[in-house]
Amino acid sequence: NPHSELVASRLRDVADFPKQGVVFKDITPLLGDGHAFREVIRGLAARHTGSPSRIDAVAGVEARGFIIGAALALELGVGFVPVRKAGKLPGDTVQRSYDLEYGTATIEVHSDAVADGDRVLLVDDVLATGGTAIAAWDLLTSCGAEVVGFETIVELAFLGGRVALGDRPVHALHVVG
Ligand code: 5GP
Repeated sequence: NPHSELVASRLRDVADFPKQGVVFKDITPLLGDGHAFREVIRGLAARHTGSPSRIDAVAGVEARGFIIGAALALELGVGFVPVRKAGKLPGDTVQRSYDLEYGTATIEVHSDAVADGDRVLLVDDVLATGGTAIAAWDLLTSCGAEVVGFETIVELAFLGGRVALGDRPVHALHVVG
């Protein structure tokens, strides 16, 4: 598949980031290539155009999910919902905490960010263990959204995110491992 090859060619492996033993998939070469960036956004959008799969908004998690999500929302002609780390949004918020390898993280959205029944597409740059995607998915659901799927550029299959997400639909342009 051409999108997978394009992504693979624009990813940089960074050893021992953010800590010893982790090989970080850096997407900045992809973002820095205007053609590749546009093709990737079109690839993510392709499955969500047309009336049967109509969506009302794209949601993305701080911070790389903002870059991808805002571009995807623009491509689909819908609004963008920022899912932020706790304490950043100015209005009334709804929160969700989830476990990290060490400690916990808390994400939040504005309480009025989605209307009841809104069909929301969740997006991020990388799916690793799935913890972030599940927390964001469940947070949006608790606000009344119908989350229709999770789109990601890169899936690190060996970390089991797809399995952790269970029956939530997941699609990745490029799968590693
Ligand atoms: P998870 O919650 O699935 O374990 O981790 C996914 C989150 O961490 C995403 O928000 C993603 O941006 C970030 N992440 C984890 N590993 C990587 C990686 O190798 N590269 C990039 N770019 N982001 C990563």
